[in-house]
Amino acid sequence: MQVVRAGLSFHRLAGIFITHLHGDHFNGLPGLLSTMALERREAPLTLVGPAGIGEYLDTLGRLRILFCNYPVQITQFGVEAFCDREEAEVYASARFTVVTRPLEHRIFSLGYRIAERTRPGRFNVERARELGIPSGPLFGRLQAGHSIGLPDGRVIEPSEVLGPPRPGRSVAYCLDTRPCSNATALARGVDWLIHEATYTEELVDEANSYGHSTARQSAEAARAAGARNLLITHFSSRYADPLPLLEEARAIFPGATMAEDLMVIEF
Ligand SMILES: [Zn+2]
Ligand SMILES: [Zn+2]
Repeated sequence: MQVVRAGLSFHRLAGIFITHLHGDHFNGLPGLLSTMALERREAPLTLVGPAGIGEYLDTLGRLRILFCNYPVQITQFGVEAFCDREEAEVYASARFTVVTRPLEHRIFSLGYRIAERTRPGRFNVERARELGIPSGPLFGRLQAGHSIGLPDGRVIEPSEVLGPPRPGRSVAYCLDTRPCSNATALARGVDWLIHEATYTEELVDEANSYGHSTARQSAEAARAAGARNLLITHFSSRYADPLPLLEEARAIFPGATMAEDLMVIEF
């Protein structure tokens, strides 16, 4: 329903990354998968999540609750998956990669970083013309990072017509978790860190025992990671007005933003 309300297309959805098997984080999954079946999806879907998620979907299928007529490629992780590595790449396309690390929650929970690959520098058309390069396929070759030969024997290197490579944009998604080094590692230098802030600092003991973070702790994670922006979310329902959470985060990380349903952030 939120995909429709946000004006997004199910057909462009390539992957779903589930953090953990608490209802507020995955109860919507069977409905979403079923809706895409009704929309006649045919393209394969990548689904990543904690161990057990495959069995859960299989059971719904066996009970004829869930019908999925397109291929779903499921990758599951448990604690043992991280015995000999810190991080796993779970998705890679020409434009993006997604990596995951385990967080620290009451049950096994995964955090994710979605990162755009480094983009080539801007193509300087004027400079290309000055060098006498005919527009057409040779422009494309240079743009793709290949050197080209001209009819007069000169060789043009991409660096002669391309600006410096542009770093890709990135987002880290860290919930549910208490403060942990893997959350900071996922958030290292990202453009946006989306971090849970379930409680205010008054309830720090409660946060710790339930495997959650306070708003202050989420801001400290953003600062420690050198994240450019922080979006806090996952507020306890005890806060009818979540403003105190935002104020607490802003005392540590002044640019912090509070998530709202269907919020749009451009960067
Ligand atoms: Zn949870
Ligand atoms: Zn939760």
